[in-house]
Order: sequence, then C-alpha cells, then structure tokens
Amino acid sequence: MVSLDQLAQKIQQCTACPLYKNTHHAVPGSGSPKAKVFFIGEAPGRNEDLQGEPFVGAAGKFLNALLESIGLQREDVFITSVLKHRPPENRDPKPNEIATCSPYLIQQLQIIKPKIIVLLGRHAMNLFFPGLSISKVHGQAQYAKASWSSKEQLFLPLYHPAAALYNPNTKKEHFADFTKIAELLKN
Ligand code: URA
Repeated sequence: MVSLDQLAQKIQQCTACPLYKNTHHAVPGSGSPKAKVFFIGEAPGRNEDLQGEPFVGAAGKFLNALLESIGLQREDVFITSVLKHRPPENRDPKPNEIATCSPYLIQQLQIIKPKIIVLLGRHAMNLFFPGLSISKVHGQAQYAKASWSSKEQLFLPLYHPAAALYNPNTKKEHFADFTKIAELLKN
C-alpha cells in the first residue's frame, strides 16, 4: 500500500478531472497519520488553493476553535475534503468530480483507519449516506460497513463550519455537536 506522503504527491499531480486547470495547488489534507478523528469537508476554497492546506480560511479558523473546545489540536486529527482541487468560484462539487476524486479519500481512510470519521456538511455526508439529511442527523453517530475495517465504521455527520459564518446564531449548536466527538472518543 502507498504511504500518505506518496498519496499526497499523486494528488498534487492529479489531472484526472479538469478542476486542476484553474487552481494554484491541490489540497491533499494534513494532520496525524495516527489520527483517531478524521474530518472530511467539501472542497478547498480560495485560501486553501493558495496555500495547499485544508481549512486555512475563515471556516478553518472556526474549525480550530471547535477543535480547541474539546481539547484537540489540528496536529492530533486529520483534515481533508471530498475534492482535492478548488471548484471555480467555490461552486458545489459535481457528481463526476466526486466520483473521480473520492478514491483518494478512500485510500487516505484505508491508511489512517480512524476511529471516527466526521462528515462536515452534506457533500461529505452524502458520499457515505446518500439518503440522509444533515439537518436531521447532525450530531448523531452513524455506522456503516467500510472496506478498510472488519467492524462497522463510526461516522459523525456535523454541520459544515462555514454554515456558522453565514448564520452566527448557529455557533452554539456547532459547539454542542462537537462535544459528541469527545464523548465518542471516550468509548
Ligand atoms: N471548506 C472545505 O470544505 N474544505 C476546506 O479545505 C476549506 C473550506
């Protein structure tokens, strides 16, 4: 099996869909190869594209605050997104882009084998649970069979942190949902 670094190099050179053409950097993801918690966002935005790092813009700052609220640092977890290249003008990922790019995500999961996969927003959630609605199941543990594990894999769908930037009244709910991660880590 390839290493996380080898995979990141492949992602940086990827031309499998046209998204790479209008970008500065691919954003493979970052964090600990031994992470127990693996966060999946939607796609890189402008700042992520410029720096080649996930969640470094305004949503990333809020994600840092959410992590700190449960005693975690970015170095303790792994953070990536469904798409590794930024879609133009931050439009929604297209189904063919998700289908082309998601094998990288699955390989990252196969290497890291996290205890909890946190699905940030509907695009990450729909990849594993196409029928669910994020407003109904956010903060509720979900289980599904995964190719990298003999046991059922634990997933936790949460609102995407960017949602709190559009609607600051929801910040409290984001913090409350994050306590679920700490609870699940204890079990
Ligand atoms: N939003 C995402 O979903 N991913 C990032 O890397 C940044 C913002």
